[in-house]
Amino acid sequence: MGYFGRSVTRKIALMVSSISLLVVGLSLTGIIMRVRETGLSKKLESFVHLQILLGVLLVIFLTLLVVLVVRLYLTGPLRNLHKVISSAEEGDFLSRVVVKSNDEVGRLATDFNRLLAKLTDVQASRIDTAMELDEAQRELEMQAALEAKNTQIELTNRKLTRRINELDLLFDVSQRLTSSLELEHVLQAMAELIGTRLGFQRFSILLFDEAESMLTFRHVFGPQGPGTSVGDNLPADEGLVGRAIQKGTHELVRDLVGLARNSPLENALPTSGSFLSVPMLHKEKLYGVLNFTSPKKNAFSDDAIHFMTALSNQAAMAIANAQLFKETLDLSVTDELTKLANRRQMKTALQMEFDRARRFSSDLSVIMIDIDHFKRYNDANGHLLGDQVLTGVARVLEKNTRKVDTVARFGGEEFVIILPGQDKATASSVAEKLRKAVAQNVFPRMASQPNGYLSITAGVSCYPKDADEPQSLVDMADLALYVAKRAGRNRVVEFEKNMLAEEAERQAARQVKVTRRRRRRKPAKAGPSERI
Ligand code: GH3
Ligand code: MG
Ligand code: MG
Repeated sequence: MGYFGRSVTRKIALMVSSISLLVVGLSLTGIIMRVRETGLSKKLESFVHLQILLGVLLVIFLTLLVVLVVRLYLTGPLRNLHKVISSAEEGDFLSRVVVKSNDEVGRLATDFNRLLAKLTDVQASRIDTAMELDEAQRELEMQAALEAKNTQIELTNRKLTRRINELDLLFDVSQRLTSSLELEHVLQAMAELIGTRLGFQRFSILLFDEAESMLTFRHVFGPQGPGTSVGDNLPADEGLVGRAIQKGTHELVRDLVGLARNSPLENALPTSGSFLSVPMLHKEKLYGVLNFTSPKKNAFSDDAIHFMTALSNQAAMAIANAQLFKETLDLSVTDELTKLANRRQMKTALQMEFDRARRFSSDLSVIMIDIDHFKRYNDANGHLLGDQVLTGVARVLEKNTRKVDTVARFGGEEFVIILPGQDKATASSVAEKLRKAVAQNVFPRMASQPNGYLSITAGVSCYPKDADEPQSLVDMADLALYVAKRAGRNRVVEFEKNMLAEEAERQAARQVKVTRRRRRRKPAKAGPSERI
């Protein structure tokens, strides 16, 4: 049954052959029975056999004919249809069944082709939709990537703008800070920039004193606590500021609540808010500290700290330059050994005070001082101790005069003091005070001096009484000093007009001596009026 069950052709062939066999068999059986009844001859019997053979052949022929017809019109087209269905099943919707007839099978094939066409359309539209979806997906991804890039660009833009602003500000800062070599101007410019351009309202600028290891408040803005006024000092190795200095970088307190307060600055800080301390460093040398406070906690962003560090470095450089300039300037107007004004500076100060005295019709006195027997001191104790004595005398003179007075080293062991607004009597009493102060001061090995202590001699002159121009004011004081020396040293002598006549006489007498000496080929010695 299995063999026939799988094929329609076989089934029909079986059916046709069975029916034919039955018909032929019945007909033949009838014929054979009639022949037997009638008793036919052998000849007739062979005719019957022929009939049987013909019947069998007819059955075979009919069966083959049926098989052929069924194959041609039914199973052949059905097999084609089956093949196309199979390929459609595998996804090939483009194959079509070849339609050769208009019978049921042909119509079935046509219908199936139509179905396939529909399926192809559906598939095509599915592909289209998938492609559209893909496209949309890609577009969305691109849009997202674009948006991410945009955000990144915006961020970079913002960063760049901020950086440009910072650089612009730093450029401004460096311009402003380097526009002056005066320390006070530099500090003023810093304070203005921090307050106006950066908008910080509470800050202080502290400068570092290396010798004392102290920080001094130089500018203070906004409300600050006690002990933080201009001029106040802070130890450079304590608390938050000390930590910043030690680290060489900023110290930040994001929230002042709960801060351990162990140093004067910490005690002065507000109870809440935030604090930032940035050391001002240039070539690893500390010049000071910038302190910022804010009433808000977390007020200092990373960017702000970064910028304040750059600013403090610029400031340190400007301060270093200002200090170097001041040192150079000081060197040109200061005597290296005694640190007093040098002769050049004395002349400048004298001219200035003289002009002022003339303008305001005020007095101006000059004291010329010379250490007694200083050559002897040097000879007995050496130049090094001699230098110490010179410095010591300079300090005594400075200590016993006013701030407005100019104490200068005139040269060697001679000093000049300019006393603006002082008349001759007052200047004489100042000179006397100085003489006593030096005499009472303890100098190394002073016992080697003739009196057993170090003494000075002073000459005093005064504008407008004794001279009408700065140079002769000094000359007159020098003349008085000369007279005092001759009178026995260790004293103060005021200039008097008759000294000029006496000096003229002495000069004349010296001239005579000089002439005589020249005759004996000996060099002349300079008089007091030739000394400035
Ligand atoms: P008098 O009482 O007449 O002024 O005598 P004097 O010895 O002080 O005066 P003199 O002009 O003869 O000698 C001045 C001495 O001062 C000579 C020099 O050795 C000394 N002197 C000048 N400048 C310096 C200096 O810078 N250091 C030292 N140690 N000594 C100096
Ligand atoms: Mg002298
Ligand atoms: Mg002397």
